Amino acid sequence: MKITVVGYWHGYPEKGEATSGYLLEKNGYHLLLDCGSGVISNVQRFCSLDQLDGIVLSHYHHDHKADIGVFHYARIIQHSLGKTMKNAAIYGHRQDEASFQSLAYGNVVEAKSYSDTGPLQIGPFSFTFLLTNHPVPCYAMRIEDGERSFVYTADSSYMEELATFAHECDLLIAECSGYGSQDVAQFGHMNSYDVGKLATKAQAKKLLLTHLPHAGDHEQLRDETATIYHGDISVARLGWTNEG
Ligand SMILES: [Zn+2]
Ligand SMILES: [Zn+2]
Repeated sequence: MKITVVGYWHGYPEKGEATSGYLLEKNGYHLLLDCGSGVISNVQRFCSLDQLDGIVLSHYHHDHKADIGVFHYARIIQHSLGKTMKNAAIYGHRQDEASFQSLAYGNVVEAKSYSDTGPLQIGPFSFTFLLTNHPVPCYAMRIEDGERSFVYTADSSYMEELATFAHECDLLIAECSGYGSQDVAQFGHMNSYDVGKLATKAQAKKLLLTHLPHAGDHEQLRDETATIYHGDISVARLGWTNEG
């Protein structure tokens, strides 16, 4: 499976870029993990909108779901233009029923729920979910394709369960919303040292830092994380990919 960074900013997108969004692909199946501001524009650098099979949302904060409404519009416009499209589904949790119900749109987009009670097969991927530490219900995801495992923390402060959940994953996509000196745990986020601890305890084979702050030099995040985690560390950029 292949994953591509479509958006990686915390809160709001910088010029021409996007907040949280990751394109997951295997055998022609295309799935977005989160759909923040700017994701629908930027995902078209990597696949056309009618190729998208679905979207899996970690939670309902704007920097993870802001482009859901425009995705609805894209589907209805493409439908009216007579384009052949795959049936798109948006997966979300049901701890916030009003937000869940807003994911469906007419006869072009279906809402489907997930929970942390067991694995969910979506196309060629098996998903398991873990409730994180965040001000609103939010789920981390472990994605397996029978060969590799990717874990996406979504938004969370550090928690031991997350390290267990990510045990020996091939790629850990971890939110890193603050520098080592910043106490971002109070807002339900991790700083670079928290991520270093998480990746080390999980024995992750590879680490991607994402959900990045709007200040400072992101290379400092890598340097700080590397004082704890001694594996392969990447810093998210538009178009960064990992295949395996
Ligand atoms: Zn959030
Ligand atoms: Zn966020």
